[in-house]
Formats: sequence, C-alpha cells, structure tokens
Amino acid sequence: MSLVIGRRPDMSRLAWAGSAHRFLENISFIKYAAKPGMRRRAACDNSRMNRSSDAVSEAMNHDTDVVVLGGGAAGLMCAAVAAGRGRRVVVLEKTRRCGKKILMSGGGRCNFTNLYSEPANFLSANPHYCKSALARYTPADFLGLVEAHGVAWHEKERGQLFCDHSAKAIVRLLLDECAAVDVTVRTEIAVETISRLDDGRFAIVAGNARWQAASVVVATGGLSIPRMGGSGFGMEIAERFGLPVRPPRAGLVPFTLDAGALQGTAPLSGLSIDVEASCGRSSFDAGLLFTHRGLSGPAMLQVSSYWSPGASVTIDWLPTTDIEAWLAERAAARPQARLPGVLAERLPKRLAVQLCQTAPEDLGEPRMRQLDAAARARIAERLGCWRYEPNGTEGYKTAEVMLGGVDTRALDSATMAARDVPGLYFVGEVVDVTGHLGGHNFQWAWASGWAAGQVV
Ligand SMILES: Cc1cc2nc3c(=O)[nH]c(=O)nc-3n(C[C@H](O)[C@H](O)[C@H](O)COP(=O)(O)OP(=O)(O)OC[C@H]3O[C@@H](n4cnc5c(N)ncnc54)[C@H](O)[C@@H]3O)c2cc1C
Repeated sequence: MSLVIGRRPDMSRLAWAGSAHRFLENISFIKYAAKPGMRRRAACDNSRMNRSSDAVSEAMNHDTDVVVLGGGAAGLMCAAVAAGRGRRVVVLEKTRRCGKKILMSGGGRCNFTNLYSEPANFLSANPHYCKSALARYTPADFLGLVEAHGVAWHEKERGQLFCDHSAKAIVRLLLDECAAVDVTVRTEIAVETISRLDDGRFAIVAGNARWQAASVVVATGGLSIPRMGGSGFGMEIAERFGLPVRPPRAGLVPFTLDAGALQGTAPLSGLSIDVEASCGRSSFDAGLLFTHRGLSGPAMLQVSSYWSPGASVTIDWLPTTDIEAWLAERAAARPQARLPGVLAERLPKRLAVQLCQTAPEDLGEPRMRQLDAAARARIAERLGCWRYEPNGTEGYKTAEVMLGGVDTRALDSATMAARDVPGLYFVGEVVDVTGHLGGHNFQWAWASGWAAGQVV
C-alpha cells in the first residue's frame, strides 16, 4: 500500500494562505501546502499578486501532474495514493470543506467500511466491473489505515464498522494522508470547463485560475443531497467527452405513500420494527420505520435501490416465525382471544391493531376459535407478504446515493480510466456502481480511488 500510513503531518507545513485580494479569495484558500516552509511563501505570493497583474496571471496558471475534481471520499483517497507515488496532485473542491458527506454519514459516526463487502453488495449494469478494484483494496486495507491513525472504531452489526466518536476522524485521516505527501487541496473552487490541449494534457478552468495536467480524476460524486455538494457535474464531463451515462436515480431513499395508504401508516409514525422487505427478487432483513410521509428505515432504503415506479414492495412482518403454525398453536392455547391481541404477542400493539384494521387486507378482529385452518393460512400469507405500493421516493433531497452514472462500458475496471480518453478517470459514486447500505459505498470510494491513484 503506497499510503503513508500513520505518518502525522507536520503542522508547520499547513498553509492557510490569507485572502489578500477579494478576487483571489476562492483560489487562495490553500489548506495544505506543497513544500515545507510554504506557509510564509504562499502568503508572500498572495501579496505580490495584489500588486502585479503579470504575477497574477502567472500565478493563476498552474502546471501539475494530476487534478482531482472533488474532495470527497474517493477524490481524497486517489489524491493521497497518487501523490504517494511522487505525482504532483491538486484537489479542487467546490464547497468550503472537504468530505461533507463523510461528516454526515452513519449518523455522524461514518460507517466507513463493511468487513463483508463483496461484489454482490453492488448494483451496476455491469456487476463485474467493481470486482478488480474491490479485490485489490479491501475493507482490511482501509481498516489498517484507520488503526494506523489511531481512530477508535467498533462493529455495529453485520460487519458494519463505525467510528467510536465522530466521522470527523475519517476526514482528518484523509486530509492528513494528503498533507503527508504534499497534495494541494483547494476548496471553494467551482470548476467551469475542462478541455483537451494540443499537447494531450487537460486544461481545467475555474474563474481566473487554470490548471494544466496530464491526468484528470473526476470524483465529484452523484446528485444526492445537493446542499452537501451533490451534483451532476461528473456526468456532464463524461458526456462532454463522449462517454455514455446511465440514467441516474435516487437510491437508499425513503418511500412516500399516497393519502390512502398513509391513513394506515401515518398513525404509526415513529414506530420501527425488524422485517424482511422485498422488491422483485431482492430481499433484506432489517428495520422498517414508519414516517409521516411513508416508509423508511434500513430495510426500506435497501429495497428502494431496486424499486422503480409502479412496482410494489412486500413486507414479511414476522420473518423468523412460521406464522401458520404459530397461529394454530395460539388458537389452541387462547381460543377466546381476538386476532389483534394475539398478533400483539409478537408485534408492537399499535402495529398489530393497525394491520387488522387496514384495508385491503381486512384481517378483522375475529376470535381465534373462529379461524379455521384455511383462514389461518390466509392470514399467515397476508402477514408474510404485506404489500405497499409507494407513489414515489423522497428523491435526491434525502437519498444516500445516486444509482446510475458514468457507464462502466466506457471505463477500464483496473484503472478507472476512460478507455477512449487517455488521462481521464472516474472514481466513486459518479460511476454506475452503487453499494448496499452498510459501509459498501465508502468501500467503493476507497477502492476505486485507490485503483486510479496507482496509475494517474
Ligand atoms: C446522509 C448520507 C449518509 C451516508 N452514510 C454512509 C455510510 O455511513 N457509509 C457508506 O458507505 N456510505 C454512506 N453514504 C454514501 C457515501 O457518502 C457516498 O457514497 C460517498 O461519499 C461517495 O464518495 P465520492 O467521493 O464519490 O463522492 P462525495 O463524497 O459526494 O464527494 C464528491 C465531492 O465532489 C465535490 N464536487 C461536486 N461537484 C464539483 C465540482 N464541479 N467541482 C469541484 N468539486 C465538486 C462535492 O462538493 C463533494 O465534496 C451516505 C450518504 C449520505 C448522503
């Protein structure tokens, strides 16, 4: 692994270059300088730029080896790996700080990987594409990095690894890795154009600044959570260079229900329960959460990635119970009891009552002795295959990921390079590879960023 594991950055090398000129503010916000002692020189350079327009234009033109667009999970990983190989790397991030989605992930504790991450945990038009990168940079590799940086972590469930304290530790880790190998990270840089120069390099323009580089890595993520930097810019770049893009849609996102269905579910808002949720042939055992708008919780987020408008979602309310046999046993033991009361033995009471009252299932409130074997079989069938027909999802506003993106047919799975555009790379969520909930998306960001970082 070429990352400088565990090396703490020399704090004296961090260059918080002042904003000497309003017009320069955006591009002078250099958080990590390239060379020891750069802090003083960078500040000096800025004041000189104030006085001389020649110096300004000279300073606005930057030659480097690699420009990484996007200072998120995949971009920072790629930058650190590439700079660790001796490449001069600049990261351009459009928001005020890097890694905003990392900071908000995992409820603020970042589910940074999953011990059991494997290709089956990813959706893509080409399920084979992710295999090479995932095999070469594994959850154990990232965990090694986490431990080398002294970040305390724990396994929550099913291989999901979280920080003990704060997701800030993961952003710090990535920025420290970048700083240790002299990556230049610039924030509040909104890249406007990327073009090909006659010499085969790329020109990247943002305002009055311009970078020339042999390699450009597009790590701008997807459309989810626009206020956290989500954008379609990476797909626009792909299209501009003639690469195909698969239609994007929101994934890992809560469902909304129409007014009729909400009558049955809204009274349960806030209630959560472990279920088996299915959409098509995909099923997930996890929690379901009723919301005032519809259905959420891990189980619903997982199936949302497989859902398309018009499809229904089915719920097994008692996934670990042989419901028919259990109802027969309860009918014998409590013949006078009514169905909702019996269901409340294994389900939250509010839910048990609601299920019995909700059309179209109409289980009703019969006494157990009134249910013959056929009636019990019908009820068991309903409880094991309860159907909802979402009228939509909450969309990119709350979606954890974007499905679709740059079509992997146009990319090399070993390097993440665009096959027909030498020097152009796509990593992370912008690519048509989307993970299940549970740390898989970050694992893809690390692995794809690492793969590109080896070759740019
Ligand atoms: C609420 C939430 C919680 C999540 N929790 C988890 C979790 O616990 N575990 C997990 O595995 N995944 C989680 N995810 C998914 C995970 O955050 C993403 O899959 C991952 O961040 C993708 O990494 P990326 O580097 O490709 O994109 P991003 O992390 O989105 O980074 C892209 C960066 O590019 C920048 N950018 C965009 N356009 C431009 C431009 N034109 N110029 C310059 N910069 C630009 C953005 O500002 C952003 O900083 C969560 C997502 C959300 C929204």
